[in-house]
Amino acid sequence: MSTLQLEVVTPDKTVVKETVEMAICPGVAGEFGILPNHVSILSALKIGDLRYRVNGKDEHVFISGGFADMNNNVLSVLAESAEKAADIDTARAQAAKERAEKRLAEKSDAIDEVRATAALTRAIMRLQLSKM
Ligand code: ATP
Repeated sequence: MSTLQLEVVTPDKTVVKETVEMAICPGVAGEFGILPNHVSILSALKIGDLRYRVNGKDEHVFISGGFADMNNNVLSVLAESAEKAADIDTARAQAAKERAEKRLAEKSDAIDEVRATAALTRAIMRLQLSKM
């Protein structure tokens, strides 16, 4: 079976470095799939689920947005933060969700709404992926 190399990297660590059968990325304009030997592509990613297949089994990684670069059969995903679904701390994500919801409910000028909304979106996505 043909494969491609997937690397998911954050400023702190390499989260995934594996040979995979395919990957589906959360692109800013919608999800897109990458199969082995896909043409070169560079795309911005949004907060979401990066899915990839190894030995017929789907794996899920939380991505906080970033970039995906497919070149020479290597898919490099650069993200501000990323965790494999199994490594997500559910209690932490729940606390982050509640914090963000509280901030957004305050409706004060001192609240950075864009930042709070992004934190809430990350927390909701982490909670969703932690159940997979
Ligand atoms: P928090 O407010 O809990 O820090 P956040 O969305 O602001 O959440 P990020 O800035 O996305 O956090 O990530 C900071 C670091 O903490 C990254 O290394 C990320 O992988 C890790 N991290 C954040 N939330 C979780 C979680 N629920 N489970 C595991 N690791 C997490």
